[in-house]
Amino acid sequence: VKAAPPAAPAIDAASAKRALAALRAAVGKDWVFASDDAALDTYRDAYAIAPPADTRPWAAVAPANLKQLRKVLEAARRHKLTLWPLSTGRNLGYGGAAPRQAGAVMLDLKRMKRIIEVNETLAYAVVEPGVSYLDLAARLAKLGGRLWVDSTASPWGGPLGNFLERGVGYTPYGQHAETQCGLEAVLADGTVVDTTANGRAKTAHLYRYGHGAWLDGLFNQSNFGIVTRIGVQLMPAPAGYRPYLVTLAAEDDLGALVEALRPLGLDGRLAGRPTLMSLARAAAYGVTRAECQPGSGPLRADTETRLIAEHALGHWNLYGALYGAEAVIDASVGELEHAVRAVPGARLHFAATRAGDAAFQCRAALMGGTPSMDEYRTLDWVGAGAHLDFTAVLPFDGDAARAASRVAREVCHAHGFDYCAEFQLEARALRLEVRVVFERDVGARQCAAHATLAALGARFASMGHGSPRAHLAFMDDTAATFKRGDDALMRSCEAVKDVLDGQGVLAPGKSGLWPGRYTHRRK
Ligand SMILES: Cc1cc2nc3c(=O)[nH]c(=O)nc-3n(C[C@H](O)[C@H](O)[C@H](O)COP(=O)(O)OP(=O)(O)OC[C@H]3O[C@@H](n4cnc5c(N)ncnc54)[C@H](O)[C@@H]3O)c2cc1C
Repeated sequence: VKAAPPAAPAIDAASAKRALAALRAAVGKDWVFASDDAALDTYRDAYAIAPPADTRPWAAVAPANLKQLRKVLEAARRHKLTLWPLSTGRNLGYGGAAPRQAGAVMLDLKRMKRIIEVNETLAYAVVEPGVSYLDLAARLAKLGGRLWVDSTASPWGGPLGNFLERGVGYTPYGQHAETQCGLEAVLADGTVVDTTANGRAKTAHLYRYGHGAWLDGLFNQSNFGIVTRIGVQLMPAPAGYRPYLVTLAAEDDLGALVEALRPLGLDGRLAGRPTLMSLARAAAYGVTRAECQPGSGPLRADTETRLIAEHALGHWNLYGALYGAEAVIDASVGELEHAVRAVPGARLHFAATRAGDAAFQCRAALMGGTPSMDEYRTLDWVGAGAHLDFTAVLPFDGDAARAASRVAREVCHAHGFDYCAEFQLEARALRLEVRVVFERDVGARQCAAHATLAALGARFASMGHGSPRAHLAFMDDTAATFKRGDDALMRSCEAVKDVLDGQGVLAPGKSGLWPGRYTHRRK
């Protein structure tokens, strides 16, 4: 495992005392956690792949509102602290609630958890960082369920943190960076930037743009500010919805299915974000690895055949849903059947034949606007499991899908992991997510998981595919895969960082972007 990034600059004992006093004055003594406090242990990665000391924070502070947050920023500037923000702190698979650097002060925004507005007429909500998908779904249910929340498969996380990570869900509103509309952020110097102010006030959460530069995206996957509020557009509950599953009889049919579905993706008839899962990924909802095949080594062909027969799965399994009035859905089923017929051995299934199928139930809930935690069961595949995710984006193309899948499977098997992967279908692109499921807190498996992610990053970069979302431990490597020529992209980001946060208070190293004082990291 590679060396950890440099720790946040240490401060002497007298300065530390003054800094903690300033933080306590900002938020009250009960909401500052210092190194001797057990509460500080919660700011860690539950799915760690590195020794805890590498990401051990120095303290944590939890402001309750914008006023307190600005005071925390003032204390951080004065006492030269490094802040690492968290919203609900559930970024599991990508670093969890740990910072990138040991010695950072966690800026925990969980107490800022107001659902500021739900507008049922124009279908949006305005939320603070601490609001989870479960909170938002509960509020919408209380209002009568006329609006759906698009949740991730980890709904104790929240819309604001997930938008900032460019995360995804599974209804037609599943691209979370695209359903965010309007935000408020605080810069390191305490300036409050409200992108919905003045000329945009009346359409703040309805239309994304005002006049001139559009700044919302600047705060996404970056360290330019602390986001304190976002608008989230919500899907009106459709007249009806029908989840489905397409199973493939042969591994090699993957490319043919992708080709057959592309026309439906391009003109919006795929509806939502269907997910095409490998056999092990789908099977893990219902069984453990040990139940399928004792011992180590990739799943054998006879095990795969048995799993397919016993659970009525395929080598690949496409979970999708159709939305609208019955007549509209019936027409869409016709189009789907037509596409599926192009792939010999492909079969289309609906809910009536999937009773008791845990994978189908979980995906149907998520695609139907109901948050579900059931995907956590898939980590039991290896007993007390944890996971890392590697993501790559490919063209919506059968050959590209087959080639990427071959490489990902080979890398997983070479490192002793099963091939748990899914393609999430966008209109023009495929988002491949390779899930490395490993035994939690077992040193050798943590190292193997780390090595697998490193190898996947390198192999995909050599094929020309960067990754759109990185684990804390791979942010520099991932940023490097987007480098070209004189790296004008990163140099522009560094220039913005220098202007907005010259002191480097906020999240150094986030997405590979380091403040000026880390000159060696910038190289
Ligand atoms: C079983 C399982 C299933 C999952 N399924 C999905 C899925 O379907 N889709 C998906 O996208 N993810 C999924 N995840 C990953 C993850 O759990 C979610 O993405 C989760 O929403 C992220 O955590 P969060 O919302 O608590 O964000 P946080 O952990 O609060 O924040 C994430 C990061 O964003 C930055 N940040 C947070 N708040 C702020 C702020 N206010 N200002 C500036 N920067 C900030 C920080 O760098 C932080 O590390 C899954 C994980 C597991 C274990």
